[in-house]
Amino acid sequence: MTLRDIGEILQQAKEVGSIEWIYFEGGEPFLFYATMSKGMRQAAEMGFKVGVVTNGYWATSLEDARENLKPLAGLVQDLSVSSDLFHYDEKISRQCQWALAAADEISIPVGVISIAQPCSGNGAQSSGQLPLGETKMMFRGRAVDKLAAEAAACDWQQFNECPYEDLNEPGRVHLDAVGNVHICQGISIGNFHKNHLAEIFANYDPVTHPIISTLIKGGPAELLRRYEITPQENYADACHLCYQARVILRDRFAQVLGPDQVYGVF
Ligand code: SF4
Repeated sequence: MTLRDIGEILQQAKEVGSIEWIYFEGGEPFLFYATMSKGMRQAAEMGFKVGVVTNGYWATSLEDARENLKPLAGLVQDLSVSSDLFHYDEKISRQCQWALAAADEISIPVGVISIAQPCSGNGAQSSGQLPLGETKMMFRGRAVDKLAAEAAACDWQQFNECPYEDLNEPGRVHLDAVGNVHICQGISIGNFHKNHLAEIFANYDPVTHPIISTLIKGGPAELLRRYEITPQENYADACHLCYQARVILRDRFAQVLGPDQVYGVF
């Protein structure tokens, strides 16, 4: 995502009028530090609250953590550091501890996002933005192929609703580097390069969207029923079923199920 893209997004978001928060997420946004920090400055100057989600890889010592965070002081109102056994060998990594300490020193509000292991059964359910503290794993996206094998398998017919997103009245969207506007990662409702965000939101119609309408009616299980997909296996959770069904439906609904990277195609 270029500075020009970020500028266009922020301008469109401003014109929508109701958007309060802009989050910089990845992948890992600190890999593009100059672009990220300039984007944050611009967002803050335009009156948005700014958040960022990072794995803290850059906090290789307290001193380094300080230097990375100093330019963001006064711009970032939520620094979320992911630290768990997917990112590091220990649940709260040294990088995470240094990032927390440095953020505290320079008054950047900070917290830890920690995802429980698939087989542990631990963690609180989350809805929307991940809450701080340990969060139950959601089997979303292309990582499910690696992770689902470790989870208890469930009958697909029980997944009759989307447990995490309010698809009728969404409170947030995700934008990707090629312009797609996602209601949940991999389910697109438009592209900000083709239509203004205000137009995309005004025209959002969950009743006619072939995937969203189906999810509202009967959750991921309804995707199998409506589109006559044969269940392949047991599923770890609703998101696992949703993702596997969408992989099968991609050829049919290429316009709204993308981009390729979300589905593990590079
Ligand atoms: S992956 Fe499907 S079931 Fe899971 S939150 Fe997204 S839309 Fe809902």
